[in-house]
Amino acid sequence: MKPMAKEKKKKGWNGYSLRPRKEMPEGLWLGCPGCKEMLFRKTMEENLHVCPECQYHFRVNGPTRIEQLADEGTFEELGADLASSDPLKFTWGDQRYKDRIEIDADNAQAHEAMLAGKAFIRGRGVILAAMNFSFLGGSMGMVVGEKFCRAVDRAIEEELPLVVVSCSGGARMHEGVVALQQMAKTCAALARYDQAGGLFISLLTDPTTGGVAASFSMLGDFIIAEPGALIGFTGPRVIQQTIKIELPEGFQRSEFLLEHGFIDMIVPRKSLRSEIGRLIDYCGK
Ligand SMILES: [Zn+2]
Repeated sequence: MKPMAKEKKKKGWNGYSLRPRKEMPEGLWLGCPGCKEMLFRKTMEENLHVCPECQYHFRVNGPTRIEQLADEGTFEELGADLASSDPLKFTWGDQRYKDRIEIDADNAQAHEAMLAGKAFIRGRGVILAAMNFSFLGGSMGMVVGEKFCRAVDRAIEEELPLVVVSCSGGARMHEGVVALQQMAKTCAALARYDQAGGLFISLLTDPTTGGVAASFSMLGDFIIAEPGALIGFTGPRVIQQTIKIELPEGFQRSEFLLEHGFIDMIVPRKSLRSEIGRLIDYCGK
């Protein structure tokens, strides 16, 4: 049989092949909100989730944050068995709080909005906690409060510095007053820690707002922020709508807060490990 004549490759108006392109794996590239460049995701991730072009700091979840800060293989989790109950039988639209917990647990690769444990940072023993924004907006409910307090108690017991990375939309509305109670509970734990002579380094990342900004995160002996992080109680949009006054440029961003004396320093992500180590040494802890 005569072989079929090779069909001539179809060409588009500009000469490119019209053959469908190979499927691009989803999320291989992403747009940088800082410089609007398209970034190769892997390059960005290898650069500690910071844009190599403009140094925009992407949000990272608790497990990644721990990986970035702690010495490799040293993290031992505390309170891993704690899980939220649903005290108010809360429903938002047609979604139950209980179901939302399960969905977000998959997204955040952690079953709550905070991951806490014992670790080493550049060879110095610490109690380290980091929040997961992908889990219900990093909101503070009963589990976050309890994990935080257990972390503080362990830091007192073992006379270790405490490093907490905030990344939160505030108190968890799904738990109502029980969530608000955690503000007082975490502050009381820090008062005990302070009396015991502990060193609390609070790292504020984008965003640190609401009940977290209004409680433990602002009580650090050192308050460090990442560049460009949104830090405040109520967001700028709501404030602007309420007071009807144009807000100053950079309002509620790390640089603005540093200028106005709310935080002690801004440290880029790549220097966090060395800076935290330096602070611990400086305080003789
Ligand atoms: Zn960028």
